[in-house]
Amino acid sequence: MRRGQLAPLVALLGLLTACRGGRTVPIRVLGLPEKQDSDERLIAEAFAILDLDYEHSVRSRGTIHISLIDLNFEVDAPGTSVGQTLLERRCSKALVAQRDPIYVAHEVGHVLGLGHVCESSDCGPEDDGNLMHGGNAAGTELTEGQFDDLDKGSRKLNRCR
Ligand SMILES: [Zn+2]
Repeated sequence: MRRGQLAPLVALLGLLTACRGGRTVPIRVLGLPEKQDSDERLIAEAFAILDLDYEHSVRSRGTIHISLIDLNFEVDAPGTSVGQTLLERRCSKALVAQRDPIYVAHEVGHVLGLGHVCESSDCGPEDDGNLMHGGNAAGTELTEGQFDDLDKGSRKLNRCR
């Protein structure tokens, strides 16, 4: 292939990369009516970490069902999970998470296909900043590969509509 023939391909790849984050994820948030405004801000923060757009949906299929809870696990139940993936099927996804954008983003990452970058025993300092840390969820960073997987996961979910 000659150099000139590659140009359209390179342009297309650039366009595809630029489109990352434009994928809209349908969600349904189960919270408390009096917390609706703060929950909306929390969800917006969580999806900003994931570099994904979202829209509220009343559909059951093809929607991520997000239950927000107020338990403070660090205080009330130390050592237990701050969030949990409840259902992770192709078109049926549900999770529960403590009201914290990082925990919500972490669990949404799981239901869209991301695994942990490490588990507590084998986590090194290089893993500390990653959102998908398996020990302590405190980071907000994602690798290019993880962003690509999120994009794939959200595209799959959108095909359920
Ligand atoms: Zn996890």
